[in-house]
Amino acid sequence: MFKTDRISRIRPELEAIVGEDNVRTDDAEITMYSYDAGMARARPEAVISFNSIAEIAPVVKVLYRAGIPYLPRLAGTNLSGGTIPLRGGAVLNLSRLKKIYRIDTAARLALVEPGVVNLDLQKALEPFGFFYAPDPASQKVSTIGGNIGENAGGPLCLKYGVTADNVERLEVVTPEGAVKTWSFRDPGPDLMSLITGSEGTLGIVTRAWLKILPKPRHIRTASAAFTSLESAMTAVTSIVSEGIAPRALEAMDRVSLEAALSGKHDPFPAGTEAVLIIELDGNDVVRLKKELAAVQNICSANSCSDFRVAAEEAERELLWQARKGAYPAMARLAPDVLVEDGVVPRPRLPEALRQTREILSRYKLTAGLLFHAGDGNMHPNMIFDRRDLQEVKRVKKAGHEILKACIKLGGTVSGEHGVGVEKRVAMNWLYGPAELDFFGKIKRAFDPRDLANPDKILPVAEEKPAGSAGLTDKAYLSPEARGIIDELKLRHRTGTRTAVTGLGTRLKTDRIMEGAKPLALRQLAGAPEIDRENLTVRAEAGLPLKELRRQLKACGLDIELPEEGSVGGLIASKTLPGLRRILLGLDIAAADGTLMKFGGTTVKNVAGYDVVRLLCGSLGAYAVILAATFSVSARAARTPQEGAAEFNDAFDPDEYHRRLKKELDPQNLLNPWIYRENAR
Ligand SMILES: Cc1cc2nc3c(=O)[nH]c(=O)nc-3n(C[C@H](O)[C@H](O)[C@H](O)COP(=O)(O)OP(=O)(O)OC[C@H]3O[C@@H](n4cnc5c(N)ncnc54)[C@H](O)[C@@H]3O)c2cc1C
Repeated sequence: MFKTDRISRIRPELEAIVGEDNVRTDDAEITMYSYDAGMARARPEAVISFNSIAEIAPVVKVLYRAGIPYLPRLAGTNLSGGTIPLRGGAVLNLSRLKKIYRIDTAARLALVEPGVVNLDLQKALEPFGFFYAPDPASQKVSTIGGNIGENAGGPLCLKYGVTADNVERLEVVTPEGAVKTWSFRDPGPDLMSLITGSEGTLGIVTRAWLKILPKPRHIRTASAAFTSLESAMTAVTSIVSEGIAPRALEAMDRVSLEAALSGKHDPFPAGTEAVLIIELDGNDVVRLKKELAAVQNICSANSCSDFRVAAEEAERELLWQARKGAYPAMARLAPDVLVEDGVVPRPRLPEALRQTREILSRYKLTAGLLFHAGDGNMHPNMIFDRRDLQEVKRVKKAGHEILKACIKLGGTVSGEHGVGVEKRVAMNWLYGPAELDFFGKIKRAFDPRDLANPDKILPVAEEKPAGSAGLTDKAYLSPEARGIIDELKLRHRTGTRTAVTGLGTRLKTDRIMEGAKPLALRQLAGAPEIDRENLTVRAEAGLPLKELRRQLKACGLDIELPEEGSVGGLIASKTLPGLRRILLGLDIAAADGTLMKFGGTTVKNVAGYDVVRLLCGSLGAYAVILAATFSVSARAARTPQEGAAEFNDAFDPDEYHRRLKKELDPQNLLNPWIYRENAR
């Protein structure tokens, strides 16, 4: 298949690093690594296995120098073709790297290698009374490295956040073979969060410092049966918008239930069309009881036919076995199953469901519907037989229509399974050319030769349909935001440098602007757009945080933010690193005035690189933040203390910060003093 044998000439070098037995090119090994849990297939030229993380950087250097593409692989359970070597090259098998170095309960951190299986970590934490929150249904086999590669989610992510929220620090081998350690707390743009979910395209995670949490003293698990899935979805929205924070809020339809309970006792009443699994936890048993009663009331008000609380651990286990086993159970019904991963703002779930059912029926397909319902994340599991080419076509078309429907409802095309090979086409529907170009620049900054897991995430040219979605006009922007864009365009044309100025609370541009012309964002302070049902708010960058909180409180909502300064200033300075947990989306303008939109009003989104978090701490030097979307709380929120007591904009940029700056603002027009070297 590959014209020349590219491996033989570097084989001695590779074998000198990992040993003779660990560079395999035999047919059996190559075949085994030519597929993963997705649909795509392609054969690598070699499979290289590792016995120590110290071997990874030297091997990457050899491959990079030889111009041979490579990708890191762990359990291969990703559902988007993320470990398919479309260009051949080497698959780097990291699955033997399973050391748990340290469990530090005082610091609440675990230090692990990438091959540690998620459930093995949970088991290792048990004796300490701790747990690691991300719990993908695949946790019996999927690994920490793969979870970080995909930014995996799981039922508990509703309360405790996705993988990205539970990583403290990462050691990374860059595409060229340098070793870096990045934390989201480091000054400057957040490189750690950019790596998380980047599917091995920006580097290989070799060690991870993970957040671990003490187990709550009490857990209550309830099931609620409904005669209609729509009623179950409406109940979900009501539970969350009431301010109740279950640790998990999952849904299954009748088809999934039947598959999961096949051959077992079905505990639900006749006529059950959907079941919610609602799990609450905490240390205050009285509060827990109250919340459980409130959940029951909401379910009853939505025609719940049966509500029961698991009386013992075995009963609870049974519920979770059904939920986590539902996808494999669907896979037993037919030779193949394709699972989609669309997300919509939670209140749009009933409509997303209606449209999904209509699409499935139009294409005459059977699917079990599973939901991380609290997150608005929907998994239709379509069963089929890949030998029936017509059926394959129908499955793919239906999948695409479902994702397009999610986009139209304000959602996204992947909540946790990543883009890989299989969702690349959908990136064209979600983003416009400007956002896709921005992703391309990030990839180039990290991997100029395009060798690290190439052909993933970014759409390839022939897949680009005419008329991408994305932003076609600026109509939704305020006149002030449009004014900023026009001004940036003008300055770009004339090469005028800009000092982006907010309220001056954190970033004192007046003392350091080095001749750059101020661009005041305080005028960007229009009324925040509050969505009471979805618990989100979009606020312009210049809006004072005090005013934002005042307006939210007037609607019975709140947000965990300080009261000093402006929305944009807080994000750009990253004086509150924990902010990233509630920051869902950004509207930004590039140095040349190009408008872009990343993230949005869904709580989960892994479609593309995490630009939203990258821009936390970007100090106005990568792009101008025009507006931000946050998730808000239905209860009074505390006023957090900012981490960096003394804000310092004279940070020492990492080489990769500089590379990004060169790609994103090549003329160094925005806050030019931050990257002085470029300014010279
Ligand atoms: C039955 C089933 C249930 C599932 N349930 C869930 C679920 O509930 N939630 C969920 O989010 N996903 C779920 N998944 C999808 C899948 O399990 C996750 O994406 C998981 O995180 C992949 O882990 P893995 O070890 O299999 O990684 P792989 O599939 O081997 O790799 C995943 C990606 O990470 C990259 N990668 C691998 N190692 C590294 C590294 N060290 N550094 C950087 N990148 C790396 C790979 O190149 C690839 O792009 C499910 C899959 C199955 C089959």
